[in-house]
Amino acid sequence: MRKKVVLLGATGSIGSSTLRVLRAHTDRLQLVGVAAQSNGQALAEICREFAVPHAVLNSGDAYRQARQSDEFPGATQLSSGAEGLEALATLAEADIVLIAVVGAAGLRPALAAIEAGKDIALANKELLVLGGAHVMEAARRKGVQLLPTDSEHNAIFQCLQGHPAEQLDKLILTASGGQFRDSPLDTLARVTPDMATQHPNWSMGPKITVDSATMANKGLELIEAHWLFDLEPDRLKVVIHPQSVVHSFVQFIDGSILAQLSPPSMTFAIQHCLLYPERASAVEATTDFTNPFSLDFKAPDYARYPCLRLAYDALNASGAAPAIFNAANEIAVERFLAKEIAYLEIPKLIEHCLTSTENRPSPSLDQLLETDAATRDRARKQTFSS
Ligand code: NAD
Ligand code: MG
Repeated sequence: MRKKVVLLGATGSIGSSTLRVLRAHTDRLQLVGVAAQSNGQALAEICREFAVPHAVLNSGDAYRQARQSDEFPGATQLSSGAEGLEALATLAEADIVLIAVVGAAGLRPALAAIEAGKDIALANKELLVLGGAHVMEAARRKGVQLLPTDSEHNAIFQCLQGHPAEQLDKLILTASGGQFRDSPLDTLARVTPDMATQHPNWSMGPKITVDSATMANKGLELIEAHWLFDLEPDRLKVVIHPQSVVHSFVQFIDGSILAQLSPPSMTFAIQHCLLYPERASAVEATTDFTNPFSLDFKAPDYARYPCLRLAYDALNASGAAPAIFNAANEIAVERFLAKEIAYLEIPKLIEHCLTSTENRPSPSLDQLLETDAATRDRARKQTFSS
């Protein structure tokens, strides 16, 4: 029987890599639901190609426009908004829900899917940074699989198979170092949105591409790893690896280190999650050792990547601090892309929010959502004099 897949965030970067996997494995996988924010035309095209029975356009305007234009196939049931997303995430026929929307917006649909007993393939990291304690508790209680799709966490998940937790020493997450890894530090003040949305190795959505440059992305991934693999911050390390071929390392107590390698494309991790525990042929060329290539590694430098230090601070502070880090970063990136703040003001804005928002120990989900909203508000209003 084919596994029935719901894809939230179908028109984005992870969405299009997922469609490549689905095209190659039509004998094993079937797309039964898709969602996007506002690109009705692209979503309608996907519904036509994959004969998708259920679709959601989150934006009410885009939904009304799509209704008027008749662009969706007649057999696709189209709905809208938070209710539509929740209904899609809990669709009776779905076996697995891939969460590839961007930002904290993924949290509600993820929790709904888990409560409905669906397995989850998790590309969205922000929802774990915001609500990790609650998401992990719900997943344990419902006995659902939470399959990490972020490439580093997918690598770690693969390396950990068959090894009990007490054999584990630490996790070492690899990071490309982003597009300004080798730029002189005094040129970073002049980084523009155009420069920060181009990545040398990965083709990704704009928010995560900026996050890669600042390494806020690796910061979010540290917090994501803390929740997924239940390790304290001092056992979570980061190493810069410019080629993005080793997707992370697991170090065991006897000093042995395992790694997972594949080319820098998300189709490998996505396919691993959707077919898990089975495997099938890759949809694109794999790592080729007949042509010589090098793999380099070096420690990250906090002067270049202050967001990474702030993420460790937030993780060590625990409580609502990771939620503050995430919300402040989301707004900082939004404002940087809108040319309201400078590149170097992204970490300043995060630091301002972390030091001026009251932390709470063991926050409830509602308290976290309150903190998230209050931090966004604060981050939108903060101005810098320089
Ligand atoms: P993207 O901006 O390219 O795509 C986001 C998708 O989500 C789009 O289809 C958009 O329409 C949809 N969307 C956004 N908000 C929505 C909402 N409220 N309701 C419904 N749909 C909504 O982003 P991306 O690069 O594909 O990243 C998606 C997530 O995966 C992010 O959390 C990112 O951190 C994570 N991730 C991405 C990559 C990558 O290679 N792109 C790698 C690892 C993790
Ligand atoms: Mg990643």
